[in-house]
Amino acid sequence: MLIHQTVEEIRQTVKKARSQGLTIGFVPTMGYFHEGHLVLMREAKRLCDFVIVSIFVNPMQFGPQEDFARYPRDLERDLDLAGKAQVDAVFSPTTEEMYPAGFSTAVEVEGITESLCGHSRPGHFKGVATVVTMLFNIVSPDKAFFGQKDAQQALVIKRMVRDLQMPLEIVVVPTVREDDGLAMSSRNIFLNPAERKASLCLKKSMETAGQMVAGGEFEVSKILSAVREIITNEPLALIDYVEILSLPDLKPVANLSGPVLLAMAVRFGKTRLIDNTVLCPGGVSYVFNDVKI
Ligand code: AMP
Repeated sequence: MLIHQTVEEIRQTVKKARSQGLTIGFVPTMGYFHEGHLVLMREAKRLCDFVIVSIFVNPMQFGPQEDFARYPRDLERDLDLAGKAQVDAVFSPTTEEMYPAGFSTAVEVEGITESLCGHSRPGHFKGVATVVTMLFNIVSPDKAFFGQKDAQQALVIKRMVRDLQMPLEIVVVPTVREDDGLAMSSRNIFLNPAERKASLCLKKSMETAGQMVAGGEFEVSKILSAVREIITNEPLALIDYVEILSLPDLKPVANLSGPVLLAMAVRFGKTRLIDNTVLCPGGVSYVFNDVKI
């Protein structure tokens, strides 16, 4: 597996792979790998010839009061896991490599970035859209892989790719969970045992919502009340947001007349976790990856 820190090097690697006629799959990450990341890499390997993974904790997508400094990092372990997942090249640039002095450009996606995490983390999606654009320009992949765990992010990237005519396909992979239902996240290691146990209220609340919809409850306010009650009843949980919004536009809805996104961000101590599920009335299935945005 090739390991590059500079834009120059990874571009050379991309050029060589292209000259051999290989298709390029790209998995952008912030590292500290778990099974969710590895599933993206395996899917990339399944659909593309040459897989590049980036590891970059992007300062531009963290607010001043957020956890950029304490975000978990372990490059050695990540390289080992990426190698075992048959990744062909890792790009792990320094902050200076990505943001040289005088850097002054940003990409903003409007309309679907004001709600949910865009509301509670101002500037977050501007940072995400900007770094992902840079990475796409550096790696020029045929396909890039994102997790449904960050559903809003996946929608923002899909919209950006469509609007800016970026010549690649976005593949969205379903959320990978621990056996007990907690969505895998690099931040889960910050949960103490009591918080880890408490975090199960997220999955429980989403299951309850799913059961309500299956039982014919389509009124958003009633579903939201039930979801919020389950989370609020957990003393260690503090709701940042719990919302139900339309798909794929993320607009408020009063009743379910089609698939909607139930999305939540909840704090357990110092750790903010996000999770989501799609609620579909009438047992219709909704494949996130097929969404035309
Ligand atoms: P991160 O390193 O947290 O920025 O995540 C990198 C990529 O992995 C993003 O596309 C995430 O949506 C995806 N990802 C993170 N956690 C999971 C998970 N539990 N299941 C599936 N994909 C995930």
